[in-house]
Amino acid sequence: MNLGTIAERLARNRYELDGAPHIEVDQQAARASGAGPLLERICPAHVYAVAEDGSVSLAWAACLECGTCLALAPPGVLTWRYPAGGTGVLYRMG
Ligand code: SF4
Repeated sequence: MNLGTIAERLARNRYELDGAPHIEVDQQAARASGAGPLLERICPAHVYAVAEDGSVSLAWAACLECGTCLALAPPGVLTWRYPAGGTGVLYRMG
């Protein structure tokens, strides 16, 4: 059975947005800790992008809610919560 590429499989997910970012980056803490490249590397949804000055932009709407960034980010860099009930990523089963 051919399930397609990872990108094709992820594209089957749906997203409902609650209008407010559920992830925030403390830019000063990100620059001081050098966390940007780590976040950019470990996020499976490519939510994070680091600029040359060490600041971090994020496309939070694409978040898969896996929790990896929250587990690995240095303390104080991220504020993370689940999106409001019924919003966020909606996985397609099967
Ligand atoms: S929770 Fe997972 S998918 Fe969402 S931003 Fe963090 S690492 Fe990326």
